[in-house]
Amino acid sequence: VIIASNFKTNHTRESTKEFVQTVSDFVDLQDIKDEVLIFPSAPSLDAFVLPSNVSIGAQNAYPVKSGSFTGEIGSQQLDEFGVKMLLIGHSERRHILKESNALIEQKYNFYKELGYKIVFCIGEPLEVREKGIQEVIDYNLAQLENIDLGYEHLIIAYEPVWAIGTGVSATKQQIEQTHQILRQSIKAPLLYGGSVKVANLKEILSIPNVDGVLVGTASWNVEEFQKMIAIAKEMK
Ligand code: PEP
Repeated sequence: VIIASNFKTNHTRESTKEFVQTVSDFVDLQDIKDEVLIFPSAPSLDAFVLPSNVSIGAQNAYPVKSGSFTGEIGSQQLDEFGVKMLLIGHSERRHILKESNALIEQKYNFYKELGYKIVFCIGEPLEVREKGIQEVIDYNLAQLENIDLGYEHLIIAYEPVWAIGTGVSATKQQIEQTHQILRQSIKAPLLYGGSVKVANLKEILSIPNVDGVLVGTASWNVEEFQKMIAIAKEMK
């Protein structure tokens, strides 16, 4: 099982350090075998000492080693901390930061070439979900159109936009049906994301074709995140 935490624009450098240390100790002490992924904000990235199944990734990076791209970070900055994992295509970057599919593809190809583990996010807005399952699938597959789905370090996160940060997760039936159909095209691990929390994690992880979760809001409190890791362990 893969349990991933997206900090978004939360936690400071100091509190990130504490969080990563607490989670690492927990993973060691509880003998956790699941994969734990943590995406802190860019200024809080560091060369953390981690158990082998805990990884730190960037929430965003520009498809360059270095250069003149004000406000962006490149692979050289990530190399300094040994970061080899990246979140690409998160709905907040697509919708708030207006990232195009073309830029997302460039990022994917650049960081794939460097061997990064990539958590690639897809997901439909509410107006598409309201049109029915075929539109939902078409929309999500279109976001994967020029993405090499055979890449060995690829993880896909299905995150319906209307379920992100709203407190309202997709229903068990919606997740089950969507993942089942997506699975026909996607062999990579398939995560669900969208208002996952301690209270619904067990049910979500028990759905066929759900290989893990990407969690925002409910993961920022380290005790809650530890509870989620513990739930994933119990489910084996
Ligand atoms: C996310 O940011 O990927 C996410 C799923 O957020 P939340 O858990 O807050 O819905």
